[in-house]
Amino acid sequence: MKTALITGASRGIGTACAIALAKCGYNIVLNYNKSEEEALTLAKIITNNYSVDVLCVKADVSDKVQVDDMVKKAEEKFSTIDVLVNNAGVSLQKLFTDTTPQQWDEVVSTNLTSVYNVTHAVLPLMIKEHSGSIVNISSMWGETGASCEVAYSASKAGVIGLTKALAKEVAPSNVRVNCVTPGVIMTDMMSSFKEDELVLIKEEIPLGVFGTVKNVADTVAFLVSEKASYITGQIVGVNGGMVI
Ligand code: NAP
Repeated sequence: MKTALITGASRGIGTACAIALAKCGYNIVLNYNKSEEEALTLAKIITNNYSVDVLCVKADVSDKVQVDDMVKKAEEKFSTIDVLVNNAGVSLQKLFTDTTPQQWDEVVSTNLTSVYNVTHAVLPLMIKEHSGSIVNISSMWGETGASCEVAYSASKAGVIGLTKALAKEVAPSNVRVNCVTPGVIMTDMMSSFKEDELVLIKEEIPLGVFGTVKNVADTVAFLVSEKASYITGQIVGVNGGMVI
């Protein structure tokens, strides 16, 4: 039985990815940081509905020591990790000139250094198996840049660069690395936007609707599946046509 580790699985897109991969028959390593209750509830939902095993691990993905400990626990329980979804992330809406060094560091360490931290810990297991699939969740703002989201856009652009470079480096080990760039997906991350702002944003979406967490999770499930076995180093937009 294969195992998938999903970071930031306690809410939003991460929760949907955990459910989608459990549905595909993966044992799930469910990472969370602050939302313990949500993570434990999700673990129950998965074990009650799918014939898979779940390990719930609290770890701040920006902290290499906590991440190494999480991956060690996962290896002890499941022996290997076949799929990694680097999903955990935070947003920051702020003028660049008002962004403090601490805020910059928090966004970059949670969104980009975390991808280094977790991937660095998991990759040796995949290389040993000569098999593995990694999906990094970036953002369309990593492709186009967003005004008042410079730190966020820079961190997400970094994730795209990391994906492309690492895909080339580990392809000979039969490890695939892809990236999903969601558009506007209705989760807690969008809760700071007011109703009138959301109306204006929706007008910019060619398909005319906001994305769902399932839209992203279905794409992740496809990318890690056998059907995508010849796809690596790709940046897949899930944005209703907002970025083409
Ligand atoms: P969300 O609902 O705010 O959930 C964020 C998740 O990340 C939570 O499970 C949270 O866990 C986890 N997280 C945050 N900091 C963490 C840390 N230091 N260590 C471990 N986990 C941490 O956000 P979302 O919309 O699902 O976003 C998921 C990913 O998609 C992010 O990378 C985001 O940038 C990206 N994305 C989202 C959108 C969108 O429109 N929603 C668009 C493009 C890209 P705890 O609550 O347990 O701390």
